[in-house]
Amino acid sequence: MFLFCEAGFTQQLQHSWVPTDTSCMLLQRPRRWIREQLDSLVEFWWPPTCLGCGCVLAAHPADDVFVCTGCRFDLSPLPPEFEFESGIWATQGYDGPVARAARGLKFHGRTELAGSLALLLAQSRVWDGNWTAVVPVPLHRVRLLRRGYNQAELLARWAVRQLRKRGHNIALAPRLLRRTRATLPQTEIAARDRFSNVNGAFDVPKRHAHLVQNARIVVVDDVTTTGATLQACRQALEQAGAAATCGLALARALP
Ligand SMILES: [Zn+2]
Repeated sequence: MFLFCEAGFTQQLQHSWVPTDTSCMLLQRPRRWIREQLDSLVEFWWPPTCLGCGCVLAAHPADDVFVCTGCRFDLSPLPPEFEFESGIWATQGYDGPVARAARGLKFHGRTELAGSLALLLAQSRVWDGNWTAVVPVPLHRVRLLRRGYNQAELLARWAVRQLRKRGHNIALAPRLLRRTRATLPQTEIAARDRFSNVNGAFDVPKRHAHLVQNARIVVVDDVTTTGATLQACRQALEQAGAAATCGLALARALP
C-alpha cells in the first residue's frame, strides 16, 4: 500500500524526499495546472512533427499519431513472437522512421524526438499489467557526461507523461538503478558475449533499496537486440526485492 499520492510517490522515488499527505494535496493541483499550460505552449510553438519526414502533423498529440499517413507505410511492426520474448517487450522493429529517429535521439542530440517516440512506448500492451514504476536503463556517468543526457531516461519520462494522461498511476524512478562499471557498447561485441559484458553491471543504491521492495517495475531502453542489458537490469531489481519486473524497448533489432 502506498502512503503517497502520485506526485508524492514520484518525488519519493526521484529524490528520496518524504512529503506529507497534506503537501501532496496542496501541491498536486497547481502542478497539474502549470504542466497543462506549459504543454499547451509547447504544442503551440513546437507542433508535433512526423518522425519519418518531419512534416507538421495535423492531429493532436493526444491522438497517438507520430508519423504522417505517407510514412506510416514505412513502419516496421514486429511479428508477435518478437513483441514479447523472455520478459522483454518491444514496440517496433529497428528499421524505417523509428530506427532513424532513435539514432537521431541517441547519437545526434535530437532530443526533441523523444516525445514522439515515447508515444510508441505508451501504446505497448505491457501497460495492461499492474506496474507501479518505470526505471530507465542508466548510463555510466562518464558516458552521461559525454552525451549530456540519457536517451532512455528521456523516453521513459515522456512515456510516463503520456501514461498519466491516460489515467495510469505510475511513477518515474530514474535513480533506482545505477551502472556500477563502464561496459563496451553492446553493438561493438558479438551477440554471444553481450550477456557477460553487462552481467553484474547494475545495482540498486542502498539509499533507494527500500523503494524497490515489492515494487512492480518496467525497465525502459531505446533499442534491444539480445535483451542482455534489460535482463541485467531486471536481475538487479529482483535481487533488491522487486515483486515483478519486465523490460520494454522502443525497438528490437531482429537477428
Ligand atoms: Zn512523414
